[in-house]
This record gives sequence, structure tokens and C-alpha cells, in this order.
Amino acid sequence: MMTHQYQHDVMIIGSGASGLSLALQLAEHARVAVLSKSALTEGATFYAQGGVSAVLDTCDSIESHVQDTLNAGAGLCKPDIVRFVVEHGRESIQWLIDLGVAFTKVDDAQGNSDYHLHQEGGHSHRRVIHAADSTGRAIETTLENKVRAHPNIELFEHCAAIDLITSRKIGQSPNRCLGAYIYQKQRDHVDVFRARCVILATGGAGKVYLYTSNPDTCTGDGIAMAWRAGCRIANMEFIQFHPTCLYHPRAKSFLISEALRGEGARLLLADGEPFMQRFDPRGELAPRDIVARAIDHEMKRRGDECVYLDISHKPAAFITEHFPSIYKKCLEYGFDLAKGPVPVVPAAHYTCGGVMIDQRGRTDIPGLYAIGEVSCSGLHGANRMASNSLLECVVFAHSAYQDIRDNLPHMPPPELLPAWDESRVTDSDEEVVVSHNWDEIRRFMWDYVGIVRTTKRLQRALNRVQLLQNEIHEYYGNFRLTNDLIELRNLATVAALIIQSALMRKESRGLHYSLDYPEADTTHPPKDTILCK
Ligand SMILES: Cc1cc2nc3c(=O)[nH]c(=O)nc-3n(C[C@H](O)[C@H](O)[C@H](O)COP(=O)(O)OP(=O)(O)OC[C@H]3O[C@@H](n4cnc5c(N)ncnc54)[C@H](O)[C@@H]3O)c2cc1C
Repeated sequence: MMTHQYQHDVMIIGSGASGLSLALQLAEHARVAVLSKSALTEGATFYAQGGVSAVLDTCDSIESHVQDTLNAGAGLCKPDIVRFVVEHGRESIQWLIDLGVAFTKVDDAQGNSDYHLHQEGGHSHRRVIHAADSTGRAIETTLENKVRAHPNIELFEHCAAIDLITSRKIGQSPNRCLGAYIYQKQRDHVDVFRARCVILATGGAGKVYLYTSNPDTCTGDGIAMAWRAGCRIANMEFIQFHPTCLYHPRAKSFLISEALRGEGARLLLADGEPFMQRFDPRGELAPRDIVARAIDHEMKRRGDECVYLDISHKPAAFITEHFPSIYKKCLEYGFDLAKGPVPVVPAAHYTCGGVMIDQRGRTDIPGLYAIGEVSCSGLHGANRMASNSLLECVVFAHSAYQDIRDNLPHMPPPELLPAWDESRVTDSDEEVVVSHNWDEIRRFMWDYVGIVRTTKRLQRALNRVQLLQNEIHEYYGNFRLTNDLIELRNLATVAALIIQSALMRKESRGLHYSLDYPEADTTHPPKDTILCK
């Protein structure tokens, strides 16, 4: 089959909040391609429930939001980046409102209508603006409608980026990003996409773990591609786990909100015994990472597959009124929240580390940017504060936009690039190897590189992942590509980066907890974990 060579001014890989926000702004100045490896709206953004944080309340202040974010980040946030993001909160929210995002409003005592703000863990004020409990859906669909209608934006759905093409890779200098190899599912073929500049907006890597709140697209592709191309990757040991995801083979990514515990839901073992008080005097209301660690401890100690969450002591009417969508979803899987406990497990939720960027979203490679969850901007440090991530997507989309708009005239269009080499590949009759390796990675990452870590377990995981990487490498060179194989290679790369970063951090800090080093290192200033090839 003939290889197509596509040419755009800008290629954005990823169509979540970060990618689409950037596309809309750049399309006023340039021809933009937006790629998504699944349907356009399928990504973490669509599933975000809580909201977006910003200083909007008159009692709140920039200083307070900055301080809360720094506290959560446990010494590893970049203070200038935190301030930059927080200071751009209000205008970012206004931009979304102007696009048409319908955030929830309430009437005050005088009958004046204003936006309703939630208060979430770690925030000392009400500052989370939301669209009921489906904020991500409201943002993503609003952005989708705008990009679909824009004449300067060309959308490529079901197109997976495999690898970036840099001048170094094709033996030229100075080094810069020239495009990417893209597997177009409908053509079942790898094509070349050239662009004057390329943006990774591919989201996080929750799928590297057996249990995750993330949708299937979150396989860390952007992090793995940037790593292979020579970018630095930072702080990959900081994976945020959400304590309560519904445990059911088909409900693989359904979150049960912390609000249930806020309303008195108890965590129980299989025999009905409550256990949170043994771990923290705040019990079920302890911070997210403490609850997740306690659940993990009990599951490992007893060999249980899950624990249980019980709110059935509340009247049924209260439950259906306060948690209508969670109630409905649990019922679909055969669990009635009003009648008894539901099985839950903690789940990988957010990737704090990623491709290192500066305040304009620039990576180490000229012409290559990274924005959103794929990046490590310095905002989150060792732990992300709730609802800061969607804000980061919109703020960095805008700062990358400004940089690209100003520099595009100096970024020449690349010449024709070499086609993907398929001369040696044959069809594989061993698809089972791919799915087996997928399962194996996600299982050992969960068992050995999860919420509570030890050096011995990490070492064991490193040996495993290295063996798998050799096997995948051989498989990759010899057989025709599929989406699963592309993702498997990336998952293995990201798993290795997480394990190596975790081994390098000889302390417990933020989301990284090691039984061998249970305290934070107070003898040295806190340091990022930076991996370079
Ligand atoms: C259940 C859930 C609830 C959350 N709730 C909140 C919340 O309330 N507030 C908050 O601030 N944050 C929340 N988060 C986190 C937040 O949603 C994400 O951090 C944010 O949406 C990430 O946006 P993004 O644009 O970086 O990536 P995503 O929205 O994940 O989009 C990634 C895009 O990249 C594409 N892609 C990936 N790999 C490739 C490839 N190889 N080739 C082509 N395309 C590719 C995907 O198809 C997708 O279009 C939540 C996350 C989850 C999972």
C-alpha cells in the first residue's frame, strides 16, 4: 500500500482538554491537524467528575491557592510555575465560559445567580467550578463542537502516533521534531505526518496498572515516544491512586466519589469489620493517599481481592438524591448502595510525572511541545491537588499557543520524510502473546510497584519488565503493527520509567511510599527524579 505524506503547520497528538484548547487557539493562525487514537472525545477529560480549580470566590486568594498547591506537592512543586498557573485560573475559566461550557449556577439569598463552587481535599477554600458531576463531559463536548466546526482544523480519529520523527533520527542536524509515524486504523497502514511543530497532548498512563480509573487511551504513549526521541522524563514514581473504584470485571474504570465517605460511608473488610480507625484517627475521612494505603495494606495482608464500602445505613431516598449517577451505575452491576456494601479497590488515577517542559510547554527537542497530563511542568510536584489538572491543561494550552504563534514563522516545513519500514514484517499468528504480556505488566505493576513499595519488590518488577521489553522488541521488529502492540511497547517503556524512578527515590515523599525508607529525607533539599537516555 502507498504511504501517504500529510503536511500541516501544526500537528497536535491528542484531543482532550489540552489538545483541543490549543487547537482552537492556533487554528486562527495556522493549519492544524488533531489526532486521537480512538474516538475524538475518548480520553480522561471526558470522565472528569469534580471540576476545575480557580480563585473565583471573593473570600479566596491567589496566595491561598498557591500555598495549598505547594503543600500538596510536598516540596517538589516549582513555585514560579504554581503561581503562573494559579494567576491564570480566572481567565482560563472565563475562556471556557465564553466558549459555552455550562458550569453549574446557584441563586443566593438575594436571588442573584452565580457559579457554584465545591471545596475539595487539600483546598482551603471553595474554588472548584463544575458542571454538576460531569464537568469533563461538559468541557470536552463544548470543545469538540468548536473544533469540528473550524475550517482550519483537520481531525484524524482512530489514528495512533507510533514514533516521533526527528532530524537526528534521519541523520540530519541541528535536531528538531519534523513529524511522526501514524498508524491509521481504517487504512491498517502507517503513514507519515509532517509538521512545522508537534505537540504531545496524549494524557497519562493509568493503564499501566491492573486497576485504574483511566479510560483505555491512557497508555502513556506520549511519555514513551518523547523518551525514545531523547526528551528528559521526570518524577514518574508519583502515581496518584484513588481509594475507591468499583470492583467488577466490567466496571473497569468506574470511580466511587469520595463524597460518599464524606456522607458517612464506611470501609469494611470481607467479614464486615471496619478498619480505617486502625490507620488514622480521621478514619474514612483521612486524606486520599492514606486511605488508599490502608486499603492496599489490608488487601495484601489478607490476600483479599477487594474491600467494601457501605452507606446502606443512610435512608434510600438520601442516597438516590445525593448520588444519583453512582447509585444507578452500581445497580447496573448488581449492587444496590441502599441495601448493602459494594466491593471497591484503589485504582491508579493520575500521572504526576511526565515529559519535562518549561512554562511555554517546550520540551528538550526544538519544535516539540507537551501539554496536559503527559507533561511534567512542576505544578504538581510529589502529589497533585484535586482539580488542578484540568486547570493545567487550559493554562498550558494557552502559553504553548503564544509561543508557537510567535515562533511559527521561524519553523520551516519539513521536506519529504522516509516511509515506515515494513519490508521485513509478516502477520503474526500469536496475538495471544501480546494480550498475555499486557496482562502481565499490569499485574506486576499493581503487585510490586503500587501504593506501598519496597526495594526488593521494585527490583523484582525491574527484572520482569526488562525481560518483557526484550520480547516485545523482537516481536515489534518482525510482525505487522496493531494498536495493541503499539500500546504494549509504550506500557512496558512507561512501566520501566516508573520503576527506575521509584528505585532512585530513597525516601517516602508525596505519593511515593517505601517501607524501606518510610520517612522523607530531611538531610538534603527535595529533588526531582530526572531520567535521560
Ligand atoms: C475518572 C477521572 C476523573 C477525573 N476528575 C478530575 C477532576 O474532577 N478535575 C481535574 O482537574 N482532573 C480530573 N481528572 C484528571 C483529568 O481529567 C486529566 O488530567 C485531564 O483530563 C487530562 O487531559 P489531557 O488533555 O492531558 O489528556 P486526555 O483527556 O486523557 O486526552 C488524551 C488524548 O490523547 C490521545 N492519544 C493518546 N495516545 C495517543 C497516540 N499514541 N496517538 C494519537 N492520540 C493519542 C487520546 O486519544 C486522547 O484524545 C480525572 C481523571 C479521571 C480519569
